[in-house]
Amino acid sequence: AEKLKQGLSRTRNQLGGQLVGLFGGGKIDDDVYEELETILLTSDVGVAATQKLLDDIKNRVKRQSLSDNSQLREALKQALLELLTPLQKPLVTSTHKPFVIMLTGVNGAGKTTTIGKLANQFQAEGKSVLIAAGDTFRAAAREQLQVWGERNNVHVVTQDGGDPAAVIFDAVNSAKAKGIDIVMADTAGRLPTQLNLMEEIRKVQRVIDKALPGAPHEVLLVLDANTGQNAVMQVNAFDDALGVTGLVLSKLDGTAKGGVIAAIAQSRPIPIRYIGVGEDIADLRPFNASEFIEALFS
Ligand code: GDP
Repeated sequence: AEKLKQGLSRTRNQLGGQLVGLFGGGKIDDDVYEELETILLTSDVGVAATQKLLDDIKNRVKRQSLSDNSQLREALKQALLELLTPLQKPLVTSTHKPFVIMLTGVNGAGKTTTIGKLANQFQAEGKSVLIAAGDTFRAAAREQLQVWGERNNVHVVTQDGGDPAAVIFDAVNSAKAKGIDIVMADTAGRLPTQLNLMEEIRKVQRVIDKALPGAPHEVLLVLDANTGQNAVMQVNAFDDALGVTGLVLSKLDGTAKGGVIAAIAQSRPIPIRYIGVGEDIADLRPFNASEFIEALFS
């Protein structure tokens, strides 16, 4: 909890720092609401989620006959909890063997890092892991995964300049033959606006289903929290194209834009499987709404 608090320090300073002044005692009036609105908007909560939170808080104030603005703090926490709790659905990989996870996201979002951290965590739970290096265009991405795989004793299926769909098809078949528990398929970084490239990821998705009907079991979109409101657009675009089943919000430790999590929740309530709050393996942690909110307000 301390590490999470530390990781979220920049978002906490941005949000909490301003709220301290606002909730310092005094009566609840329109000025307070207006100021709260500004604080939420400047914390990347987004227009729709800000409106929703304000409505929720006003209802609570009425229902509970609150009068002192210091009571708004608890009302805001409760409103956030209600918004974020539906996103708290940890990834369960025991439903299939192999369980196939397809990772997507724009370049630099944190896909490779996420794959490494997850592989370590799965192995620590006694699960066998195979990685398919589907980003065949970026030699550096492939090499990065290979080096990492050798160091950690994880088999990485790769092919120089090959067809990503073919690499991933081979990897899934190999995992079936070897009785591997979890396959993580990396895909090339894509901007959703690059339609022909998006079509290529859809092809990868179809090919995985051919190798193992019903797979991929998880389409995981990795988002860089630093991109703020742009992350919301990425969620919409990737979800429209692929049907995203889970999100990873990375680099929350480096940003004051952690409020974007509320914007995502309001826009598309896709489960946030993990949040990244630092460089250590353990810093990729399952999303827990109340833990997250406590860390923001502590
Ligand atoms: P990819 O292009 O999507 O595969 O992105 P990478 O996994 O290569 O990550 C890009 C950069 O972000 C690397 O320098 C990572 O170390 C860094 N990074 C990824 N996740 C986190 C995180 O949760 N916190 C911090 N501080 N850095 C991260």
